[in-house]
Amino acid sequence: MKRLIEGHRRFLTEAFPTRRDQFHLLAEGQAPETLFVTCADSRIVPDLILQTQPGDLFICRNAGNVIPRAGEPAGGVSATIEYAVQVLRVRHLIVCGHSDCGVIRALMNPERLEGLDSVKDWLQHVEPAWRYLGGVESQDSELTRHQALTQANVLVQMDNLKSHGYIHAATAEGRLRVHGWYYDILSGRIECFDEQAGKFVPLVG
Ligand SMILES: [Zn+2]
Repeated sequence: MKRLIEGHRRFLTEAFPTRRDQFHLLAEGQAPETLFVTCADSRIVPDLILQTQPGDLFICRNAGNVIPRAGEPAGGVSATIEYAVQVLRVRHLIVCGHSDCGVIRALMNPERLEGLDSVKDWLQHVEPAWRYLGGVESQDSELTRHQALTQANVLVQMDNLKSHGYIHAATAEGRLRVHGWYYDILSGRIECFDEQAGKFVPLVG
C-alpha cells in the first residue's frame, strides 16, 4: 500500500501538473471511441500496450473477458457494455484475451477449482470455447492448447455479444464494429481475428 500512496504522491507532483489542461477537459465529460473488454489480469495494461490516454478507452474488465449472453445474470458487465454502446455511442468494441490466462487454465484443469464456487459458476460462460476449438489435437502442447482455447473464448464472447439486441442493431446499422483480439504477454504483440481468413493474424505487420 505504501508503494501506491507514494505513486499517487508522484502523480500529483510530477505527472498531473504537466497534463493539467488535459484533465481540465476530461473533468467536463468523456467521449471514448472504444470499449475495451479484457481480463482482470494485472499484466494487461491497455493504456500501455495501445499507448492511449485518459479518456480514450472505456474499459470493462473481468476474469476471462467474459460477456454473458442476453437474459443471463450478468452483474455489471452487461450494464457497462450497454452504457458504452447506447449512451456513449462507442464506435469500436474490442474483446481481448491474453496468453497465460488463469481462467483458461482453470477451464483446462477444472479439478483445481475445489472451494472456488464463484469461479466455477463464472466458468460456465467460458465453457462453450471447447466447441470453437478447431484444429487442435490433444497431443499438442499445453501452450498451444491454451492459446487456441483463449482465442476460441474470444470468439465465444463475440458471439455472446450478438445475443444482445442493441448490439445486433448497432452493428447492422454500421455504427459499431466488434473486434476480437489476443494479446501475448511475452512478445507484447496483439493478434486480431480476421473474419475472412477465419483465424487470428498480427494486428501490426
Ligand atoms: Zn486472464
